[in-house]
Formats: sequence, C-alpha cells, structure tokens
Amino acid sequence: MLKTHNCGELRVEHAGQAVVLAGWVNRQRDQGGVIFIDLRDRWGITQVVVNAADAPAAHAIASDARSEYVLQVSGQVRVRPEGTSNADLATGDIEVVAQDIRLLNASKTPPFYINKDEKIDEARRMQYRYLDLRRPAMQDNIVLRHRMVKFMRDYLDQQGFIEVETPILFKTTPEGARDFLVPSRLQPGKFYALPQSPQQLKQLLMVAGYERYFQIARCFRDEDLRGERQPEFTQLDLEMSFVERDDVISLVEGMITALTETVVPHKRLLWKPFPRITYTEVMEKYGSDKPDLRYGLEAVDISDLAGKSGFAVFTSNVADGKPVKAMRVPGAAAVSGTQLRKDTADLETLVRGVGAKGLAWMALPVDENEEVKGPVGKYFTIEQKLELIERLGAQGGDLILFLSDKREIVYNAVDILRRTLAEKLNLADPDTLAFFWVIDFPLFLWDEENQRWDPSQHMFTLPMPEDIPLLDTDPGKARGTQYDLICNGYETGGGSIRIHDRALQEKIFPLIGQTMEHAKEQFGHMLEAFEYGTPPHGGIACGVDRLAMLFASVPNIREVIAFPKTQTGSDLMAHAPSPAEPGQLEELGIAVVVEDETEVEKSS
Ligand code: ASP
Repeated sequence: MLKTHNCGELRVEHAGQAVVLAGWVNRQRDQGGVIFIDLRDRWGITQVVVNAADAPAAHAIASDARSEYVLQVSGQVRVRPEGTSNADLATGDIEVVAQDIRLLNASKTPPFYINKDEKIDEARRMQYRYLDLRRPAMQDNIVLRHRMVKFMRDYLDQQGFIEVETPILFKTTPEGARDFLVPSRLQPGKFYALPQSPQQLKQLLMVAGYERYFQIARCFRDEDLRGERQPEFTQLDLEMSFVERDDVISLVEGMITALTETVVPHKRLLWKPFPRITYTEVMEKYGSDKPDLRYGLEAVDISDLAGKSGFAVFTSNVADGKPVKAMRVPGAAAVSGTQLRKDTADLETLVRGVGAKGLAWMALPVDENEEVKGPVGKYFTIEQKLELIERLGAQGGDLILFLSDKREIVYNAVDILRRTLAEKLNLADPDTLAFFWVIDFPLFLWDEENQRWDPSQHMFTLPMPEDIPLLDTDPGKARGTQYDLICNGYETGGGSIRIHDRALQEKIFPLIGQTMEHAKEQFGHMLEAFEYGTPPHGGIACGVDRLAMLFASVPNIREVIAFPKTQTGSDLMAHAPSPAEPGQLEELGIAVVVEDETEVEKSS
C-alpha cells in the first residue's frame, strides 16, 4: 500500500507516529517558509505542514502542488499547537509534519471546484462525472447507497432469502413501459428485450421451489424521463412462496424500519408501524396514490353540506354527482387583503392548469369580530359556516379552498394544491420519513384512449379472492392484492400476491386487450409453468435509487447514481447513445433510417 493510514483516521493518540498518507490536494496555503496542504481522500482531510528549513525537497514539491494534485506524504503526526485546532475536521486536533513528499500525479485545473459545495451546472457535472463524484457530498451519497444495499442483503440473508441473478438479455416483460430491444447477431431479425423487471423470472423461481428470493436488480424501461426516473434503475426485487399480503408487507416493513434506523438514524420515521390506507381513501383525501403525508392539507368531502348552500355551482354539481371538497390551509389567510387576493388568484391559475374551472375560497379572519372574506362566504348560512369550520378543524387566519368538478379533476387539483402549498409554506420536514402502505387498489384502470382495461400494477396481480367473480361481471370494480409503499410523495415499493393458476391468468389477457395468441407467444412459458405445481406466491420491488434519494435528502435520483443519464437519456461523459459502426449494423442485418437528423441532434 502507498499509505499507512487514510486521511480521516489520525487522532491525538497517533502523535509521534511515523505515517504515510496519500490523496488529493484539497487546498494549499503557501506562507513562505511553511506550506499547509489539506490532503483529502474518501475518508476525510488531514492537514500536512511542510517546513522549508526541515524538509527542503518536500517543500519544493508542496510549493508547486495545485488543487487535485495527487501526493504521497511521509511524516510524523503531531498535536496541533495550542489554539490552532479545527473543530470542523475529525482530524482537526493533529497535523502531519512532512519529511518527504512524492508527486504521484499532477492535475489540470478542474472545470469546477471539488473542495467547495457550489451550485454547478448539471451538464458540466455529467461531462466530468469522475470529478463530480470526487466531491465529498457525492462520495457521501454513493457510500450511503452502498450501506443501504449491504444492509438489505444482510437482513434478507438472515431472513432465509437467497440472491439469484436473472438474465439481462430476455424477453418482453409486462411492467407497462416500452422495452429496450437488443438485436441478436446469431439470429438475425430477432431481438432480446432488456427486462423492465425480473417479474416473470422471480415467479418462475417460486415455481422452482426457492421460496425466498431477492436480487439487487437492474431494470430497464424506455420511458420519457422525469426527475425521479432513469432508463435504467435499481430495484430490491423479492419474491416469497406460501405467503399472503400481510406476510410480504410485514417483512418489508421490518426491513425498511431497521434500514432507516441503522443507516440514517438522524431521520425520523413518522409512523411505526406504517399505516395502511386504501386506494379510495388516499385518492379522496389527497388526490394522489402517492401523497406526501408529512403534512396534512387534507381534502374533506363536504358535498352534503355544499349541496344545501346557496351557491349554484355547488348545488348543481352535487345534483350531477360531482363532489365538493374543502381544504384547510392553516394560517394562509393571516395576510393583507392584497396579498390574499394575489395568493388565491395564483392558486386558481394552478388548478385551472389541471382542468378545474375555478377555485372558490373563504378566508377566516384572525379577529373573531371580523367577517369571513372570499367569494362564496355569502352563500353559506352562519350555521353552515360553523359546521364547515368544525368539520375542517379550521381556526382564525386559515384559508379554506373549495373544489368541485369531475372526480378526476378534483383529484388532480387537490394533488397540485397540496404540493404547491406545502412547498410555499414549508410544511414538509426534510428529516421526516412518512412511510405508509396503499392497499386495495382497483385491479384495472380504464384506458380511455385504447378503450380497454389496463392492469393498475401488472397482469400477474391476483385479484382479491372475493372479487374474482367481478372479472366476469364488472371488472372495473375488482380490487387487486397490490400494495404500494409510499414515502414523502414517492412510490418506493410496489408488489402483489400473484395469480398462480393458469385458468385465472388466462382470464386476464382478453380483459387487457391481449389476444390469447399473443399472450401465449409472450407468456406461454409462464402459463405452462403454472401447470407444474406452482405454489401461492407474492413479492415486491423497492426502488433503491428512490430510497437512497430520500435517505440522502437530495432532489433527484441522479444524485445517488454514480453514472446516470440526463433527462434525454444521454451519458454526456462517454457520449452515449452514439451511432453504431456500419460493420456492426451489417453484422446485425440492421439498416438505420433517421427521419430528421436535426431532431435527433436536438434531443441528445
Ligand atoms: N415487478 C414489479 C415492479 O417492478 C414489482 C412486483 O410486483 O414485485 O413494479
């Protein structure tokens, strides 16, 4: 080894020891006869002192050393002189007095500071990702991710799970996204699909009798990318045999709780155990199946009350079966009249953006003797207002927002209002993790465009046993055994108990618009396997990137992935994707037709 200790390791008790350190120059301060170098490696920073009189050769190298030069320093540890300790550094009570310095490598001036936590243009960071990853904040994220994955592996191993790798070159898998295809050279004209998840393979491992499987699995989905999405991402994928919904939920909940408490003990788990909320309830209260529950801003159905008010929009909507919902925004009315008008106008613009026709509101005065403000107050009697205030638990200074429209529009409006207001009013505590389960999902959601049912999870989800007859009569009403694990507004896990019976599986295909012929071609191996003693089984996949993002308190998953792609799916460092060599295409029997090259360039 070129070093005896790392740069975060030395303490007062090492004083007097001869040590060798190696790392990067974080900072060099030349004070003439004495040069100070902060030497950095993955473990920390140690101050090196180089004295011209005692070590002239070392001093000469130190004097030329610039940021990010790689040095090997041999010297002696000493306690820093009285009054010069640095409480911000773990090694801040000591320094290493250099006897000898070797320049292991020089460095060009980096395109951005490694040693300062500054806002850097993301494209630059991606282009020089190896330098970006050298920054301590990024190293913390990557190390945190390692600890999470190691914890998961150890925990599951102790619970009797084994890790099995499944192929990357496979066949289309049914997670509802577009596949990435890989052409086969040996069988021209045929393609592998990269797995959207190991779904089928893990189910087949249950058929094969492994009972408890997991894998830190790479999944590939060719989707339009958003903040928390990447074309390839990592799941903790697991599957268990002879289980029911509660078994999978309890196992995962135990693991996530222990993981949080071990890896990020400074984070607060809002609930233990995690609440279980039905799909209908989360949609009705929060307008989303993955709401952030670190804060309230709950929508309360007041259709009965509003239907009796004097406000024609509400009464006619209620008569048409459209809901009226009210949301209490604590303290938001305790502002000037002008500000209130501006705030409510902004919120109205926001909900119009998701299709709502307007936003009614009522501002409760801080002073009880004053009148309620807002356009709809006059249509409610005093008794109705009091009833409303009671139902919402509202207080003086609160703003009450009203939404009434088609249910879908109300959901979208509630969702966007909650997110926007939480951000504006700073309601979400960054150190709180609000994990909870959503259960009792509908098995299918209606796809208006294609006029067919879409699985709300995937086609292998077992319907709730008591709802199986509904597949023949009213599929839209059937609930699935699906469970999603939500945290702070993100889906961090999702799974279900699976169908393990061929006849039931075959019933699903026509409902989701697949001909039996196509289904057999794609999933014939699954159907066949179901005829050889398939045990009841179920599982889940948890998003490793999303969990790491939440644990590291960073705004997107690119911060916790060593080499992520940009929003347009590019690797700016290696320039991927890139055109293939003509010879490669020829071997594969592929001719490329690019319709509009400028479009392609623009998006890369
Ligand atoms: N394969 C599913 C997914 O990736 C998870 C599961 O059902 O286990 O979303």
